[in-house]
Amino acid sequence: LNLFDIATQKFTHFEYNESDTNSVSSNNLFSLLKDSHNNLWIGTSGEGINRLDLSDKKITRFPEEKKIRYATVTAIIEDNNGVMWFSTKQGIFSYDYNKDEFTSFPELTGEFHINAAIKDEDGLIYFGGLNGVLRFDPSIIKPSVKQPAVKLTSFKLFNKEIIAGENQILKKSIDFEDKITLSHNQDVVTFEFAALQFPFSSDCEYAIKLENFDENWRNIGKDRTATYTNLAPGNYTFKVKSRAAGSDWGDNYASVDLLILKPFWLQWWAFVIYFLLIIGAFYIFRKYIIAWEHMKANLRLERLTHEKDIELYNLKQQFFTNISHEIRTPITLILSAINRLGEKYGREDKSNIYLATVKKHGNHLLNLVNELLDIKNLETKIRLKISKGDFVNFCEEIYLSFSESAAKKNINFSFTASTPELEIWFDKNQMEKVLYNLLSNAFKFTQTGGSISVFITENEENAILKVEDSGIGIAKRQLTKIFNRFYQTSGAGKIKESGFGLGLSISKEVIDLHQGSINAISERSVGSTFTVIIPKGKAHFKQEELKENQLISDQDELYFLPEKLNPTSIDEKKQDVLKDQTLLIVEDNADIRHYLVEIFTPYCDILQAGNGKEAFEKAIENLPDLVISDIMMPVMDGIELTQNLKTDMRTSHIPVILLTARATFQHKMEGFDTGADDYVTKPFHEKLLLSRVINLIKNRSFLREKFSGQTLLTISDGDFNTTDQKFLTNLIKAIEENVDDESLNAEFLSKELGMSHSVIYKKIKSLTGMTFVEFVRDYKLKIARSLIEQQGFSVSEASFKVGYSDRKYFSKLFKQKFGENPSHFLIKK
Ligand code: ADP
Repeated sequence: LNLFDIATQKFTHFEYNESDTNSVSSNNLFSLLKDSHNNLWIGTSGEGINRLDLSDKKITRFPEEKKIRYATVTAIIEDNNGVMWFSTKQGIFSYDYNKDEFTSFPELTGEFHINAAIKDEDGLIYFGGLNGVLRFDPSIIKPSVKQPAVKLTSFKLFNKEIIAGENQILKKSIDFEDKITLSHNQDVVTFEFAALQFPFSSDCEYAIKLENFDENWRNIGKDRTATYTNLAPGNYTFKVKSRAAGSDWGDNYASVDLLILKPFWLQWWAFVIYFLLIIGAFYIFRKYIIAWEHMKANLRLERLTHEKDIELYNLKQQFFTNISHEIRTPITLILSAINRLGEKYGREDKSNIYLATVKKHGNHLLNLVNELLDIKNLETKIRLKISKGDFVNFCEEIYLSFSESAAKKNINFSFTASTPELEIWFDKNQMEKVLYNLLSNAFKFTQTGGSISVFITENEENAILKVEDSGIGIAKRQLTKIFNRFYQTSGAGKIKESGFGLGLSISKEVIDLHQGSINAISERSVGSTFTVIIPKGKAHFKQEELKENQLISDQDELYFLPEKLNPTSIDEKKQDVLKDQTLLIVEDNADIRHYLVEIFTPYCDILQAGNGKEAFEKAIENLPDLVISDIMMPVMDGIELTQNLKTDMRTSHIPVILLTARATFQHKMEGFDTGADDYVTKPFHEKLLLSRVINLIKNRSFLREKFSGQTLLTISDGDFNTTDQKFLTNLIKAIEENVDDESLNAEFLSKELGMSHSVIYKKIKSLTGMTFVEFVRDYKLKIARSLIEQQGFSVSEASFKVGYSDRKYFSKLFKQKFGENPSHFLIKK
C-alpha cells in the first residue's frame, strides 16, 4: 500500500511486518475506503480489516474482533450515519464509531464480490454476491438476536437412560419435567439436549451451567451431553442454551431442577439422634467414671479391710497356736497323772469310773488341741516327701493302734489285704494322717457292738484302701460336703468326740497331692464306706517330692542311720546300769534285729526272737530284764505280746519298749493302757534308744530302793502295773500269813502263788533287786520292827512271831537292817 502526499509529492509505503503489530496485516489487499473520520479502511484477503489514521499514519488491526479478524473483506462503504459496512466472503459486518464495536448479521449470509457495493440517494446500501444483490436500509436493520431454542432430550443415571413413568424418577418426559429428585448415591447424572434448528442444529454450539455447582456458563461446543459425577446432596438447576455457530448466546435456556437428597445419616433427625447419642455417651461415660472412681475407692477400702482382716486372722492364729501349746502341756501332764491314778486304784475301784470319764474327756481335749494346732499347719501348703513302702504293712500298723479302742467299744474290727505286700510310692507321714482320720471317724461314729473293717486291694494301676463302718452314716445331700473344711454333718454334733471338721478336708488334700481320689458312700443308720485310690508308680510325682535318692526303703530309713555307735559315747555310770541285765529283742526282720543286737551287745546280755509268740515263750523261760519289740510282726504282733507279757504274773514286771514307725500310733496308744512302758518312734537315734532302756531299768532300781527302805511297803503306790500289784499283794499276804513259820521258803511260796520257784526268784529280784531269801528276811524284819515299835511286843516275842527262834541271830540281823538293836524301838512304857 502506498500513500501519495500531494503537498510533499511523496509516497509513504506500508507493508506487512511480522514483528510489528502496527503494520498492515497483509500485503494482499482487496478494498479501500476513506471515511468521514479521516481514516482509511483497508480490506485484506483472509486477514480481516485494518484502519489507517491518516493524521498520524497509525494502523489498527482489531485483533480482538474474532468475527472479522480472518475475514476476506471484499467491499467497504459508509452509510449516512457514519456507520461503516463491510462485505466479506463470510457475510456482512458493520462498525459503529459510537460503540467502537463490530456487529455481524447472520441473516445477511452469502459470499460477496470485490468492490461490488453502492449506496443510493435514499441511503439504502447494495452489495453484490454469488447469490445476487443484497439490499437493506442500514438505518433500520438490526442484527438478529433470535437464537435456536434448546430442549432436553434425555436424562441418564449411571449412563442408563431413565424412562418416564409412575413411581419412576421421571414422572413425565424430561422435557416437561421441572424437578428431578435423586437419592444421595445416584450421583452420576447425564443430561442430553438438542437445539431446535432443523436442519442446522448440528451446527449449533451449546453452553451449560449447573446452578450451585458451576460458577459460569461453560461453552461445550457441539457436544450435546453433559455429565456430572459426585454431586453433593443439595438443590441444583441444570441450564443449557445454544447458538448458531458464530452468533451470540441468547438469553433463552432450557432448565430442570435437580434435588439430590441427603443420605439418612445427614437428615436432621439423624443429627438429633447423633446429638442424643453424644449426650447419652457423655452421660454414660460420666456415670462410668463415677462408678469407676467409686469402685477404686471401694477396692482400696476392701484391700485395707482385707489387710486388716489378714492381720487380725494372723493374730488370732498366733493366739490359737500359742494357747494350744500352753494348754497341751498341762493336759498331757493331767492325763499321765490320771493314768497313774488309774493304776493305783485297781480296776474294780469305784472311783475308777470317774477316772475313766476324766481320762476319756481329757484325751478328747488333747485331740482337740492337737487339731487346733493343725489349723495353723493348714495355712502352709503340704509338701510331699514320697518314698517307697509296703502299703499293707503301713496300714496294718495304724490298724493295730486302734485295736484297743475296738476292744473297749466291743467293735468287730478287722483288717483284710488281698496281697501280703503292696509296694507303692507315698508320703508316710501324710498318708498316716489320712488313715488315722478315717479310722478315728469310723470309731467316733460307730456305736458299741458295731463293726469296722479295713480292706486293701489293688488293680493294675492303683492301690485301693477301704474303711467300712456300720455307724450312723451320712445323709446323701451331706456326702458331697464332708470333704470341705470345717464341715460337720448335723448328726456329728451329738457325738461328743467330734472335732472341728478338718480331718477329711486334710485327707482329701493329701490324696489329691498323691493324684489319687477319696470318696464316700453312705446310708443313714447303715454305715459308711470311704474309698481311697492311690496310683501306683512314681512318675506322677515331682522330682523334688521324691526321696528315692536319699534312702532306699522305709525300713532302711528307720534303722540304718549313718552314725555308728561308739561304745564310749555313753558314760560309764550309765553303762553300769546295764551290767548283768538281759534284753529280749523281738523283731521279724533279721537285719534290723541284728542291728539292734549290735547296739546292746557291748553292755548286756541279749536274747532274740523273730515274732511275738517266740518272744513270749523266751520271756517266760528266761525272764529278761527288758523287752524291746517291734509292733508289726507275723504270728503275734507287738501289742499282743505286750498284753500277754503284762497280764502274765510271771512276766508282768518286765518293762517293754515298743518300736513304731507312726507318730500317731504313739499318741493313740498313750491314751490307752496297752501296758507298754515306753514307745520309740522310728527312725530313732541309737543313743535315744539306749537312754530309754537305761531309764527304764533305772526306774526299777528306784523301786528297789523303796523295798529296801525301813518301813513296810504300801503296794498301791502306783509304781506297779495291776498284774505286778496283784503279785506283790499275794506275795506279801503269803509272807504275812506264814511269817511265824521258820520254814517259809520258795517251795512253799511257789505252791501258795501257783508259780515256779525260778519265776518267783527272778520276779522278786527284778521288782525289788533282792534275792528271794533277802526279800523274805527283809520283810520279816520290817514286820518285827512294826510289832515292837507300834504294837508293844517284846523283842523275843517279836522274833518268835516272825519265825526266828534264835533271838541273838534275830537281833544281829535287825541291827544290820535298821542300824539299832531291836530293844531301841521298844515302846517306852
Ligand atoms: P471331724 O473332725 O469333725 O470328724 P472330719 O473332716 O473328719 O471332721 O469329718 C467331717 C464330718 O463328716 C464329720 O463331722 C461327720 O459328720 C462326717 N463323717 C466323717 N466320717 C464319718 C463316718 N465314718 N460316719 C459318719 N459320719 C462321718
